[in-house]
Amino acid sequence: QNLIKPPHVAIVPTPGIGHLTPLVELAKLLLFHHNFTFTFIIPNDGLHLAPQKKLLEALDPQAISYIFLPPVSFDDLPDDVMVETKIALTLTRSLSALRISLIELTESTRLVALVVDLFGADTFDVANELHVPPYIFFPSSALVLSLVLHFPHLHETTTCEYRDLPEPIQLPGCVPLHGRDFMDPVQDRSNEAYKVMVRMCKKYRSAAGIMVNSFVDLEPGAFKAFKEQGQGLPPVYPVGPVIKISSADGFEGNECLRWLDKQPNESVLFVSFGSGGTFSQEQMTELALGLELSGQRFIWVVKSPNETAKNANYFNVQGSEDPSGFLPHGFLERTKEVGLVVPSWAPQVQVLSHQSTGGFLTHCGWNSTLESIVHGVPLIAWPLYAEQRMNRALLVDGLKVALGVKLNDKGIVESQDIAKYVRGLIEGDEGKLLRNKMKGCKEAAKLALSQEGSSTKSLAEVAQIWKGLKI
Ligand code: UDP
Repeated sequence: QNLIKPPHVAIVPTPGIGHLTPLVELAKLLLFHHNFTFTFIIPNDGLHLAPQKKLLEALDPQAISYIFLPPVSFDDLPDDVMVETKIALTLTRSLSALRISLIELTESTRLVALVVDLFGADTFDVANELHVPPYIFFPSSALVLSLVLHFPHLHETTTCEYRDLPEPIQLPGCVPLHGRDFMDPVQDRSNEAYKVMVRMCKKYRSAAGIMVNSFVDLEPGAFKAFKEQGQGLPPVYPVGPVIKISSADGFEGNECLRWLDKQPNESVLFVSFGSGGTFSQEQMTELALGLELSGQRFIWVVKSPNETAKNANYFNVQGSEDPSGFLPHGFLERTKEVGLVVPSWAPQVQVLSHQSTGGFLTHCGWNSTLESIVHGVPLIAWPLYAEQRMNRALLVDGLKVALGVKLNDKGIVESQDIAKYVRGLIEGDEGKLLRNKMKGCKEAAKLALSQEGSSTKSLAEVAQIWKGLKI
């Protein structure tokens, strides 16, 4: 009886809308092209679930259902705990509840695989116990995956902090990478997050397969190196770019889009720092003055300043708030002809796909990066946290589709420099070169996703394996 049921896949995202979104899109693709059904099993801390729920409620419940696991508590953690530790702990503290849900699924469906994301490797033991092969959907670049796979070796062969390494690291087939640009949770060997990363990275090699949200033509060297390393490495499948599709549905009256409609082609800079990015008041003021000084058109998604963390909103995506209290006096009035300030959230994919958008000042989150590539929008790269400095290296040094910002001695990007980058990107010769390069990436992405494209084939390969597993 089990055989006539469609093959079913359990997906376990770790916290963060940037993790859930691509997994939802992956499920839609596998449903549409390969007829799988899905259950999202969601670990959480009991707070801030509205964005997740909204995303999941919009799906066809016959094909993609979801359950939230009982919330875990962080009451015992110190205030300065790193986001990455919290993300990993959300999952670790949900393992027994996850086990029960997976057992139920093995009884009620034809469960052929478990898919987890970046921080999901702690589920492998449960999956193996239940004979469900565990796959990773890696929601970042092949460059970052390469570091993750090499990390246990680096950990054992070095003793200093990575930022003190005298030379950049050369991962096979990748741009050279300075230790200071490695992801945040490995920057302090004494921090709990470092131990989490070592444990997690070791487990990657025991995944049944790793799907990467990137594509061969974007990072040919890295993907070739994964193939050549062969033994000891799970199969790596480049399946991206998996991003939200740009559709105007539901956004007809949106202020950003109506405003963009009135602007000239490729003239507007979109300024946004992801779901969690925040600045100090000082940096916020410099950014405002820089945008004003540039004289260019802009849409700026503003979040209230935070003096201590650059990712203050990660576990707390905020509601709207009046930004005039933390913008320079008179800024809104002076820039009202050229700029639109939006509190907290904008329909980013729709903005990036609009013909008036000519550039994106971004924190280099990987979803934002892929969305820019798919829509051919060149970038100013201003990484803030997580693995974003590595994304910057790929975009600025490798692909040459972005201008990288420079920090002064106090770690601030100054207004004069911001104005220079913005003018350079929107109307300078350098901007033209970056735009052309980005349009090349856009074409390559389109090809990868076409019917015979490399990513379409890679995903079909995974689907075949899953279908073959229990037939
Ligand atoms: N996003 C959006 N509107 C905003 C800010 C973010 O739609 O105002 C979306 C964006 O399109 C992307 C995701 O949220 O899909 C952010 O993911 P990313 O990996 O870029 O950054 P993170 O939020 O994980 O740091």
